[in-house]
Amino acid sequence: MTGRFRPTVGVLALQGDVREHLHALEAVGVRALPVRRPPELAACDGLVIPGGESTTMSKLAVAFELLEPLRDRVKTGMPAFGTCAGMILLADRVTDGRPDQETVGGLDVTVRRNAFGRQVDSFETDLDVVGLAEPVHAVFIRAPWVEQAGADVEVLARVAVGPAAGRIVAVRQGRLMATAFHPEVGGDTRLHEMFAGVVRTG
Ligand code: GLN
Repeated sequence: MTGRFRPTVGVLALQGDVREHLHALEAVGVRALPVRRPPELAACDGLVIPGGESTTMSKLAVAFELLEPLRDRVKTGMPAFGTCAGMILLADRVTDGRPDQETVGGLDVTVRRNAFGRQVDSFETDLDVVGLAEPVHAVFIRAPWVEQAGADVEVLARVAVGPAAGRIVAVRQGRLMATAFHPEVGGDTRLHEMFAGVVRTG
């Protein structure tokens, strides 16, 4: 026991790769909780929104009466970390979304869904990430990218090589973080550690 604050970090568990995030969060020493209902959200000090399918997740968030509580919590400063579809859900603006697609918002970015195109639906590449000493081996699965970022958004990573070189794939704005790739696969927990740091410092 270190006696330091052990926050509760939820993983939005409507759809998508929930279990891997719960494991990664436990590994970095926070209490991890699947979130499907408003009272579970209320118990969280921070929230991961996983990858999956953003259109489905947004529909389920409405059906489970979580969309407004999510918007409220993010607006009032709850730390949140969106990965892939989760990045889309945290974006203020979405390009190539469905017309009825809702987002939680909070990140002053325009995100393009399925941005890398059909030929490169899924790929892996090494990325330099601001704040991390060694590159991250990033797994992209039908991923979005950040097409435009507002002045208060810090770019944490861009694709280094290939046709998408220069595209923004990781960002932070205050207590919000987002990656276009899946940091929960492959056992590298440094981005979860970074997010746990955001949650701990409040
Ligand atoms: N293409 C998906 C979407 O639009 C995101 C893919 C993912 O999360 N792996 O929601």
